[in-house]
Amino acid sequence: GNVPLSRREEASRNAFEEAKQYIPGGVNSPVRAFKSVGLTPVYVDHGIGSRIYDIDGNSFIDYVCSWGPLIMGHAHPEVVKALQETAVKGTSFGAPTLLETEMAKLVVERVPSVDIVRMVNSGTEATMSAIRLARGYTGRSKILKFEGSYHGHADSLLIKAGSGVATLGLPDSPGVPEGVAVNTITVPYNDLEGVKIAFERYGNEIAAVIVEPIAGNMGVVPPQPGFLEGLRKVTTGYGALLIFDEVMTGFRVNISCAQGLFGIEPDLTCFGKVIGGGLPVGAYGGRREIMEQMAPAGPIYQAGTLSGNPLAMAAGYSTLKLLTPEVYDRLETLGARLEAGLKRNSVDTGIPLTINRIGSMVCPFFTEGPVYNFETAKTSNLEHFRSYFGKMLDQGISVPPSQFEGMFVSGVHSEQDIDDTLEAHYQALKSL
Ligand code: PMP
Repeated sequence: GNVPLSRREEASRNAFEEAKQYIPGGVNSPVRAFKSVGLTPVYVDHGIGSRIYDIDGNSFIDYVCSWGPLIMGHAHPEVVKALQETAVKGTSFGAPTLLETEMAKLVVERVPSVDIVRMVNSGTEATMSAIRLARGYTGRSKILKFEGSYHGHADSLLIKAGSGVATLGLPDSPGVPEGVAVNTITVPYNDLEGVKIAFERYGNEIAAVIVEPIAGNMGVVPPQPGFLEGLRKVTTGYGALLIFDEVMTGFRVNISCAQGLFGIEPDLTCFGKVIGGGLPVGAYGGRREIMEQMAPAGPIYQAGTLSGNPLAMAAGYSTLKLLTPEVYDRLETLGARLEAGLKRNSVDTGIPLTINRIGSMVCPFFTEGPVYNFETAKTSNLEHFRSYFGKMLDQGISVPPSQFEGMFVSGVHSEQDIDDTLEAHYQALKSL
């Protein structure tokens, strides 16, 4: 391997101590603080391709990739060029620009269920707006979500949430009023029977089911055969909307997103991450007659000073343009290579692992498995995870600092990157 065995971290330690005086917990998003793994966060100086470089001079092969957006790696030349060319023309106008229409056209072309699409600034805004739209459109109040799914931090969606909430083992968040929480029904992921029972009881009050078509915030959990089809059928039967939260899966697992992979058409789709190519972007779109309820076409309100921002559109558009069928083949090849090696290491070291993977979303759970919902994800040995995470970091590999997040492979990782990662992984398992 080309990776250092001892990692310097003095500069990161000092930076974190100072940050804690000025920023709550030292970070602007909780999981970054490495609290659950008991380590000091790595302060990044820069990234190129599949690698990040920290302020202590260490380098890491990166499988966080900004938590998903960087599907073509760090500082991709095409994306940087688009940003530079756009920035010199001014960074924000609060008036329409041509690139917004180009971007919308590209999304509509690639995602068959999306007739029309609105840009926002984060995945949180996308899901929050889609929920408001579903409620306004149906005139109903309740929503159904799945345990261990994360749909951003809007009040109604922060119930039994995955991602950082699960990582930190937090109960449902203070600050969410009871009156909001009672309108959120939760069911275990992949439990179609549970969904049917909820609809038998509350069917005429449910505005929408929101689902990650591949769950990515309790580790990676694919939908079981029939689950998404069943959701489509039940929601249609009761006149509720089906919302796919493709913030993580959108343009990552397929050129037309998870819905293209599985052949299911939701009523509304939420986007984030890849669609912004590393800048703050989210979007929601879907059936025309539903979307045209949004102001100014219709009465339901949602707005944004920076929505459709030129720099954000430039990064997103140039990233989507790079995503050819060949890139998706490459992501599958690399993902499969990683999965096979992780399995081999598990067998060779006798440490039980369950590897869940779809394309470039990969998650090794420290459990015999199978993992098909949040309960089974939580059977993972978190002590093993903590120790493994630190050992990977010390060998120059950056994986998500949580068992409840997946690894992201990018289109610019090399076979050598994967093989170096597997060697480090073998050493990490052996040391447990
Ligand atoms: N939905 C899903 C499926 C996500 O994975 C995330 C973020 N991890 C969000 C919504 C929220 O997106 P953001 O962090 O951009 O607000």
